[in-house]
Amino acid sequence: MLQKKIFLDESEMPRQWYNLAADLKMSPPLGPDGKPISPEMLAPVFPMNIIEQEVSTQRWIDIPEKVLELLSIWRPSPLVRAYALEKALGTPAKIYYKNESVSPAGSHKPNTAVAQAYYNKEFGIKRITTETGAGQWGSALSFACSLLDLECKVFMVRVSFDQKPFRQMMMNTWGGKCIPSPSMETAAGRAVLENDPDTPGSLGIAISEAIEAAVTDPTGETRYSLGSVLNHVMLHQTIIGLETKKQLAKVGIKKPDVVIGCCGGGSNFAGLSFPFVNDKINGADIEIIGAEPSSCPTLTKAPFLYDHGDIAKMTPLLPMHSLGHTFIPAPIHAGGLRYHGMAPLVSAAVEAGLVNPVSLHQNECYNAGVLFAKTEGIIPAPETNHAIAATIREALKAKEEGKEKTIVFNFSGHGLMDLVGYEKFLQGQLTDYELPDEEIAKTVALLKGYPKP
Ligand SMILES: *Cc1c(COP(=O)(O)O)cnc(C)c1O
Repeated sequence: MLQKKIFLDESEMPRQWYNLAADLKMSPPLGPDGKPISPEMLAPVFPMNIIEQEVSTQRWIDIPEKVLELLSIWRPSPLVRAYALEKALGTPAKIYYKNESVSPAGSHKPNTAVAQAYYNKEFGIKRITTETGAGQWGSALSFACSLLDLECKVFMVRVSFDQKPFRQMMMNTWGGKCIPSPSMETAAGRAVLENDPDTPGSLGIAISEAIEAAVTDPTGETRYSLGSVLNHVMLHQTIIGLETKKQLAKVGIKKPDVVIGCCGGGSNFAGLSFPFVNDKINGADIEIIGAEPSSCPTLTKAPFLYDHGDIAKMTPLLPMHSLGHTFIPAPIHAGGLRYHGMAPLVSAAVEAGLVNPVSLHQNECYNAGVLFAKTEGIIPAPETNHAIAATIREALKAKEEGKEKTIVFNFSGHGLMDLVGYEKFLQGQLTDYELPDEEIAKTVALLKGYPKP
């Protein structure tokens, strides 16, 4: 019988995270005055131990024992050889996927949620606020807070709150408090509601509410948490790629030829790929591909510049690929990939020529997801379908070239809470949308006076 899954023992879990900021030159985040921000300026928003990680340029950072213990609830995650998918494609390529859907929340997001909850707890924080779109991040953080006995308050974009009750129930089950955004609980929320009581809400508004709820708590015991984009989130996710390297070594593979992940804010892609980016910096020949939606082409079409992470401009200016903080993406079903910016570290890796981005339409992605479900069994998250579609392109290219390449992709999550998108796809109701260059030019033009990285 063929060996399908490659497991690691819990004792073989990586003990350190890899920090790409040690190996790439990065421009600093800037404050409203255009000068680099100091750690103290972030102190009302994040606990200082996380801020230290955010600005660290140390290459290897120890994973605390307690975090390893909590991660061991589902980690190490299996690396799986997709024999059935290979056969369906008739490709000589070996396809492996790192299955991050085995976490309790169903995606890679708990990898950083657990670490962030731990550092907040260590710092004496009692309550964490955050925002969530489709609910993936809110459920991951609610789960992590329940493990560490912290309160968790999630501002969920109103349309999703109304349309996706199941994620909300997951949050409530783990003891998180999920409220629709905009809410009457914050000045930011009240202002929006006053203007437009029937607003569907947006991620930008929800971020503003979550930050406000944290910084205005008079007890000083509340902080805010973000599920992607920032350096410390990329750091926490590198356990994915570090495990993958050990697993490939177990089946005698010294290095993969191609590494692939989908890109929203960049964290699951960074998690799998950054340890391989490190190898590439040290001379290894590896193609590293970030797959994004054509309707939100941050890496493939948007410029590299300084921009805010949110619409309300509450975050510092970050050096990143951005469609502009006022950009509202088309309502494609891969909710987790609808973000105007990209992690500064992922953006810098693209600028350095270490990562090649590609963009894909949603029908190609759902086609890929359905083929995966029919061959390998698991129904992928709509976000994950982008990585699968890019993998299929590479596998077919290997077939044309007659090359036995090793391709590894990140299976960032399952789609069992996102079946409405599949229903629409199967009924032929999904349309492909290519974001026109003129649209990008419009929202990017608003950043004209900003400093350049
Ligand atoms: C949130 C999410 C993503 C996108 O976020 P990144 O930070 O880019 O990883 C991708 N896949 C799944 C399953 C998600 O939940």
